[in-house]
Amino acid sequence: MLDSRNVIALHDERDGLHARAQQEVRPRTVSPEDWLRFEGNVAEILAAFGMDLDTLGTAETPKRFLKALYDATSGYEGDPRLLTAFPTESDPSAASFPGQIVEGPISFAALCEHHALPFIGCAHIGYIAGDEIIGISKLTRLVRVFARRFTVQERLGEQIADTLVELITPRGVAVHLEASHLCTLIRGVEEQTRTATTFWRGAFSDPDLRREFLQHVQGCGPRS
Ligand code: ZN
Repeated sequence: MLDSRNVIALHDERDGLHARAQQEVRPRTVSPEDWLRFEGNVAEILAAFGMDLDTLGTAETPKRFLKALYDATSGYEGDPRLLTAFPTESDPSAASFPGQIVEGPISFAALCEHHALPFIGCAHIGYIAGDEIIGISKLTRLVRVFARRFTVQERLGEQIADTLVELITPRGVAVHLEASHLCTLIRGVEEQTRTATTFWRGAFSDPDLRREFLQHVQGCGPRS
């Protein structure tokens, strides 16, 4: 059980970690001249592929496309609240030790780095707490900070698992992701499939714990 003295000691130890992680928060800047040039490039491509840019609905499309792409990749800037808000997540009264805590489904949308097209799905995160737990809102931030990038499902899962290990030093972490990839839906085989991947850390080398975690994973709808 964690007392308040231990909480303070733990956070003192972690100052170095927080400092390192903070360095990963990097605001992006794009100059007005670059935005204009990018808009011109996008307009040229969209027009060449068949879009009529001379309508009320499409005249601003290159600008909107770029803004949407910029927002969808905001994860590169990091999430300072993910880090600074962390110490408030300690819960000495958590009755769930030493069992696993499973949160999800946490919805996400990411961009596949092979096609720059979205893959959309949800994450379930399980962990066996050490001295600290983390709230669902922070887990959501954790998923989104890595999903809002050009990535692949495998790396996304690894990053979520490894960062959760760094943040709260749990005894074990399990991350299950399932997603539909637009790049396979709108081209090629055009099949409606979902890709599922699972990542294990620490105590989740135990097959019983894995089974227990996977029992909590029931698709991307609300859990019953
Ligand atoms: Zn792809």
